Amino acid sequence: MSKTITITGGGLTGLSLAIALRKNGVTVALHEAGSYPRHRVCGEFISGVSRETLETLGIAETLADAHLHRSVTWFSGDKLLRENILPKPALALSRHLLDDRLQKLAIDLGVEIHTGSRLKMNPGQAGEVWTAGRKPAKGEWIGLKAHIRGISTTAHLEMHSGPRGYLGITPVEDGWHNACGLFRIDKTITARHADLLTAYLLKNGNAALARRIAAAEWREGSFTAVAGFSLGLQAHTPGLLSLGDSHAIIPPFTGNGMTMAFQSAETALPHLIAYANGSRSWPEACEAIQRQLAKRFSKRLTSAKLLHPLLFHPAAKPLLKHAPLRPLLNLIR
Ligand SMILES: Cc1cc2nc3c(=O)[nH]c(=O)nc-3n(C[C@H](O)[C@H](O)[C@H](O)COP(=O)(O)OP(=O)(O)OC[C@H]3O[C@@H](n4cnc5c(N)ncnc54)[C@H](O)[C@@H]3O)c2cc1C
Repeated sequence: MSKTITITGGGLTGLSLAIALRKNGVTVALHEAGSYPRHRVCGEFISGVSRETLETLGIAETLADAHLHRSVTWFSGDKLLRENILPKPALALSRHLLDDRLQKLAIDLGVEIHTGSRLKMNPGQAGEVWTAGRKPAKGEWIGLKAHIRGISTTAHLEMHSGPRGYLGITPVEDGWHNACGLFRIDKTITARHADLLTAYLLKNGNAALARRIAAAEWREGSFTAVAGFSLGLQAHTPGLLSLGDSHAIIPPFTGNGMTMAFQSAETALPHLIAYANGSRSWPEACEAIQRQLAKRFSKRLTSAKLLHPLLFHPAAKPLLKHAPLRPLLNLIR
């Protein structure tokens, strides 16, 4: 009989891992602090994931009707800097829909899902996987997101940057556009709730965009905000197997965080199956997973960390305007 895997955190990492493990006959219990469906701070633009990864995890069908996006325009302040066509399309679907589809699939497959269940870390406990997202940290960033309708855009993904951050707009389902940004926290901004989004855009020099967004229809309940996290490798908790954002957060401009969530589940999968079937001990499985995660992600995490500050630096604008796209993408995938 197989050993049970207990997953803490039902975002993309936890749900896709739970589905893949169940498809391989492993008994899985998943604890999610929140409930489904729900809006999350995320650009909802999945860049760099392969069909093989989605198929290995058994989740390709949940993204079958995702938008395929290729065109990108980049604005600095209110000025168009560059236009590009991505070499491979990115997938776009709201997290409201995607996470809900994944949890339904997981339940159908027999994953025992406990919503409204917030677990504590239990380092060293065999069979426990931590996929609870970013680890709390004193961070300088705030992430803001809302779905808006009635806005026309110049490309599948419009990116707007400035000295304090950036925001991307991309169409998701049902005529909605997702507007999601990351900004350096500014304590002088006094706006509250949804007004924060336009206040940060104005402060960032994106006045034309702030006006377009303010005039659009906002989807009820879709405004979300998150702060208190750091980018890059997250604090390591000895004895705890952390995957997805709990392991490392790549800067959002890469559009690669969800891909890393799926890929970390894919990386862990064979080792967790081997543990569940009794052919590998828990410490052996964890060690192999951690080694492979470092190998798979270290180049892109380092490159993204080096590139990220350049997005805000006025002196780096020529680089932002002229840097060739393909080599850049190769660095952050
Ligand atoms: C501003 C911003 C924009 C982004 N844009 C993009 C983008 O365009 N493209 C892209 O690919 N990525 C983007 N990302 C990154 C992407 O959202 C994440 O990489 C991805 O959500 C990681 O998935 P995860 O499952 O690891 O974590 P999460 O999606 O955060 O899921 C963690 C889950 O764990 C639950 N949880 C937390 N604590 C507990 C607990 N103690 N017990 C039980 N459950 C718990 C939470 O409720 C949550 O459901 C963006 C991120 C930010 C901040």
